[in-house]
Amino acid sequence: MKHFLVLVLTLILASCVSSTSTGHHWPGSEDRTVSVRIDPALAGDSEFISAMQQGSAGWTNGSSYVNLDVQVGPCVDPDPCVEVHREPRNGASTQWSIDDAKHIHHVWMRFDSAPWDYTTLVNVACHELGHALGLDHGNVEGPCQGGSPTQIDLDNIAAAYSHTD
Ligand SMILES: [Zn+2]
Ligand SMILES: [Zn+2]
Repeated sequence: MKHFLVLVLTLILASCVSSTSTGHHWPGSEDRTVSVRIDPALAGDSEFISAMQQGSAGWTNGSSYVNLDVQVGPCVDPDPCVEVHREPRNGASTQWSIDDAKHIHHVWMRFDSAPWDYTTLVNVACHELGHALGLDHGNVEGPCQGGSPTQIDLDNIAAAYSHTD
C-alpha cells in the first residue's frame, strides 16, 4: 500500500515563511503537462479564470520541463490533477498529496472567495501554482512579479524535473 502524505502551504497575501526544500514533483517524462481544473461553480468568474491562466503561463512559458493546462471543469479520477476552489478564508493555500518517492499525486488549491485586487490575484495564482509544481517556501522565492516566477524558481523546477520516472 502506498503511503500518502498531505502537506499544506498557506500564503496570507504576501507573507511567506521559510522551510526546507523538498524536490517534490509530478511523475512522468520531461516536459510534463499538469492538469489544473477550476471548480465548475466558478465558470462565470472570468476574472479568476483569467488570473489562473496568466499565472500558469509564467511557468509554462518559462520552463521547458512543465506545462500547465488550465481549464474549468472537474478533476477526472485517476488523472493527476490540481483542483482549484474559492471559499471564505484568509489568502490562498495549496495542499499536496505526495508519496515516499516525492511524487505528487493530487493538489488542492484554495483562494479566498472575497474580491481580490487583480494584479495581486495573478501573482498569487502564479505563486500557488509554483507550490502545485512542488516548490515550497524553501525554494520558491516569494510572490511572483508580473505573473511570472523568478529565474531561481525556474532553476528549482529544472532541478526537480530534469529526469524521467
Ligand atoms: Zn507560498
Ligand atoms: Zn520522479
